[in-house]
Amino acid sequence: MTYLAFLVELLFVAVGVFFILALRGLSSASTSHRGNMYGAAGMLIVISFPLLSCIFWSGSQAPGFHYLLTLLAISAGGGIGYRIAKCTAMTDLPQLIAAFHSLVGLAAVCIAVSVYLAPNLHKISVGNDGLIPFANAIEMSVGATIGALTFTGSVVAFGKLHGLIRRALIFRGQHKINLLLGIVILLLIGLFSSYQSACVFTILLILACLIGYLLIMPIGGADMPVIVSMLNSYSGWTAAGIGFTLNNTLLIIVGALVGTSGAILSSIMCRGMNRSLFNVIIGGVGTSSGAQQSDTSQRRDVKVCSAEDAAYIIQNAGSVIIVPGYGMAVSQAQHIIREMADALKKRDITVKYAIHPVAGRMPGHMNVLLAEANIPYEEVYELDDINHEFSNTDVALVIGANDITNPAAKTDKTSPIYGMPVLDVEKAKTVLFIKRSLGAGYAGIDNPLFCYGNTMLVLGDAKKVSESILKEMQSDH
Ligand code: NDP
Repeated sequence: MTYLAFLVELLFVAVGVFFILALRGLSSASTSHRGNMYGAAGMLIVISFPLLSCIFWSGSQAPGFHYLLTLLAISAGGGIGYRIAKCTAMTDLPQLIAAFHSLVGLAAVCIAVSVYLAPNLHKISVGNDGLIPFANAIEMSVGATIGALTFTGSVVAFGKLHGLIRRALIFRGQHKINLLLGIVILLLIGLFSSYQSACVFTILLILACLIGYLLIMPIGGADMPVIVSMLNSYSGWTAAGIGFTLNNTLLIIVGALVGTSGAILSSIMCRGMNRSLFNVIIGGVGTSSGAQQSDTSQRRDVKVCSAEDAAYIIQNAGSVIIVPGYGMAVSQAQHIIREMADALKKRDITVKYAIHPVAGRMPGHMNVLLAEANIPYEEVYELDDINHEFSNTDVALVIGANDITNPAAKTDKTSPIYGMPVLDVEKAKTVLFIKRSLGAGYAGIDNPLFCYGNTMLVLGDAKKVSESILKEMQSDH
């Protein structure tokens, strides 16, 4: 091994360590900033590789031109990434992640096509028969298949999360067709690896795109977070597969890290929703968006109160548990909520925050927002740690949340979210909802809790209503 090759392998290991430290850091809100920094340091080394390789390894092939091309590609990618990061609202992050996954899938397909067309360029020596070695062909076709599946699946997930695709595609015999397609794809991978026909490769890619579409189209409602994380995992395995083809240790390490962390996260979320991963991936469950939504606006048994009433209720409580949801993220009410909580604490009222694992629109969404508003970590509790406390609490203040409080998940076997653990807010003496209407949440289903005897609603934008409540509290003081 030459000195340079040894240095490269060493840097690959360093990047792997940086990414492991990043994942470790990101597992808790208090260390997430450090985790992000480790990730950025790893990425910096990664993007410096193409530039270094132009300087040291391009040999006689016009290094100046390679250098310019690489620099252009990095600047364009970096510039676009910077612009997207600046313009994307926090609430749009899940669809952005889905869009990025689609690019990983597409990149894998492009690399596989490039390897197929010009194996020598990728330092893959072809045999006397002009074919790529069987093992390489298997790795390449598996990587390309997962890449194509990830591409269309992620595009569909983007469409669903962004509200462009509103209807789930469900038809009879769907699972049988998917199974059949899966078997055909496996056969084509074997066929392609043996004979490497362009026609088989093209059909393989088309069928992989089709199965990605068919797998994600029926999924909706409460299962979408798991799917985003599963696609994350697929994109990792794609990178690892292509890493094997290109004999690139770094791609293998990073791909495996992304693949396993995405799979572990999906499994944790499934446990949080009391669903099996297989059941989610197969799809068609939890998809009845809008189907069960009854016209809650017609209900007469709902108690609506003013900000003044709400201020009176929470000021006279001994304990308050705040339950944030997607609506808090939309209205960016986290800062005003912290001010409200500070005012309550000054009156010796105990304030805690209850976070549901799928509150908002991405894993950890609420934790990020509460941390941004400098809400102390020790006041923030996960579902399992706080659910038993609602029965001893005076007020559950639900801010822009809906599905995560829906008791139908516990009682109604026909509900698409049946079995998903929810926050037991109804056990508090009073439940105060802040939301704009009696409308449904992401799963598109009715929430019977609005009609419970101990529930009251303050209708309006979460930030504006919270400001009014705080104003009332301050004027009372
Ligand atoms: P929901 O989507 O169930 O409910 C949010 C509620 O917020 C809506 O009912 C809406 O009611 C209200 N709202 C919207 N805008 C405002 C506003 N400006 N001010 C006040 N209220 C507002 O959110 P939850 O957090 O309760 O549950 C998350 C849901 O999203 C789950 O179904 C989960 O499975 C799904 N999901 C989660 C992901 C994750 O990773 N966390 C990813 C993708 C989906 P109204 O219109 O009446 O105001």
